[in-house]
Amino acid sequence: MTDKELANVIFPNITKTIEDYEKMYPERELPEGAKVTRFAPSPTGFVHIGNILQAVLDYYLAKNSGGIFYLRNEDTDTKREVSSAVEKIMDALKYMEMLPDEYEFDGSVVGNYGPYVQSERKEIYHTFIKHLIEIGRAYPCFCTSEELEIMRKKQEAKKGRIGYHGGWAKCRDLSNEERIERIKNGEKFVIRFKSMGNYDRKINYEDLVTGVIEFPQNDEDFVIMKSEDLLPTYHFAHLVDDHLMHTTHVVRGQEWLPSVPKHVELFETFGFKQPKYIHSSLLLKQDGNVRRKISKRKDPEALMEYYMEHGYPREAVIESLMTILNSNYEEWRDSNPEANYLDFEFDPKKVGTSGALYDLEKLDNISKNLISRMSADQVYDNLVHYTEIYDPEFNKIVTNDPDYTKSILNIERVQDKPRKDFANFSDIKKGIWYMYDELFDSPEYEWMKITDIGEIKNILNTYIDEFYSESDTSEEWFNKVKLMCDKLGYASNMKEYKQNPDAYKGNVADISTVLRVALTSKSQTPDLYQIMNILGKNRIVNRFKDIS
Ligand code: GLU
Repeated sequence: MTDKELANVIFPNITKTIEDYEKMYPERELPEGAKVTRFAPSPTGFVHIGNILQAVLDYYLAKNSGGIFYLRNEDTDTKREVSSAVEKIMDALKYMEMLPDEYEFDGSVVGNYGPYVQSERKEIYHTFIKHLIEIGRAYPCFCTSEELEIMRKKQEAKKGRIGYHGGWAKCRDLSNEERIERIKNGEKFVIRFKSMGNYDRKINYEDLVTGVIEFPQNDEDFVIMKSEDLLPTYHFAHLVDDHLMHTTHVVRGQEWLPSVPKHVELFETFGFKQPKYIHSSLLLKQDGNVRRKISKRKDPEALMEYYMEHGYPREAVIESLMTILNSNYEEWRDSNPEANYLDFEFDPKKVGTSGALYDLEKLDNISKNLISRMSADQVYDNLVHYTEIYDPEFNKIVTNDPDYTKSILNIERVQDKPRKDFANFSDIKKGIWYMYDELFDSPEYEWMKITDIGEIKNILNTYIDEFYSESDTSEEWFNKVKLMCDKLGYASNMKEYKQNPDAYKGNVADISTVLRVALTSKSQTPDLYQIMNILGKNRIVNRFKDIS
């Protein structure tokens, strides 16, 4: 019996050909040099920062060249699929403002090269597999997992190469008669690719990052279609999809590098042009003396939710990932502080090949600088947007009087060295909550040197009754604090105080601390004059009254 007959027994309902699909998905009309990239995560329910690193590069490559960035849901491993996973992926892309040009989500398909969900492309894959069977380059394999396990053990015992290759490939030489009979008897089977490779020969593969790498040829008859759901494996699915969707550049994890020889042989067998590959390195974390892979179980920062829930500005996340992706990015950024990252000229040769160190402290620094350069209005808009989703109660408070909140956010902002204490938008509440009466209720006080409540009340009353004036300038304000020191027996001059501390009850810093703590409950805050100015007399008087 012929291979064609075998193909018809296995796929009786497949009537289309590869050419039919190639006509349905013609070459894209794009400007010269435009890149087509895809973000192709498996819907596991976790969006790892390493995936986002790849997505940033995908997005950048497409947008920097006037190309297309699309999302493909690689859900062929149904055992791992989680239903809300695609939503999480879309949420992460939305947050990063890297919406794909083409995708499938929530029942709608955007783009002409779909379906963009692999489990919906079964018929397409079957057409390509049928073709391989017809030309004698794929066959059904009936080996059970027990048989494969025995084979593996024998290979191990002989210290041989593990895998379904050469003389080990038992089902490779079955006759088509036997194959068809066993299929008709209902025996379970997978489809394997029939390799023509020779392990002793070499191929030179050119990776955009690593340059030319020499690999032995593939000689493994690897599985291309699984038996349980008739879906293809990654190796095969990516060939079909990247061919029909006209992907030019694939950014994927380094764990795929050893599979390259398989992919080279598959693409050659079909006569398809292979996309260019960038294998991105693993993200590592410094853990004491060792560097280890960032792990979603141990490190909250491994998952995208961490950045979204903390409200990191997406520009900061992008900046920190771009510095990991290209070793000369930081230098470029220093000389182009205002430029859009998409204008950076990426050099694949400058991508690290060994693991890249991912440093949260660095992200915090990038982010603190970025937020410090924002105007109060911009911080306000971001804060409102963030709290809408992650802290609705605080959202009500900050939006109740937008001008009040903006003036708080403006404290120490418009100056040569603006404040840099916010690394993300959740830090803001930690830094300004005491400005709102709703949150200031019964705070824990951090009285420092002066702790006697009678003396504290005396200071506060004297200040309000004799010295405080709402219209004072910063200089007048400070002079009055000093005058009050003199009156109450505290040193207004630090030098004099240090020369003769016993002559005083304390000094001007102690007095300022009392005012600061009474108003904010904290012994350290940004500029107290500005804080008092914004709080205004009523709040100040009320807070002083509440001290007991
Ligand atoms: N689904 C594969 C993964 O998540 C994608 C690899 C690729 O981008 O080709 O590893």
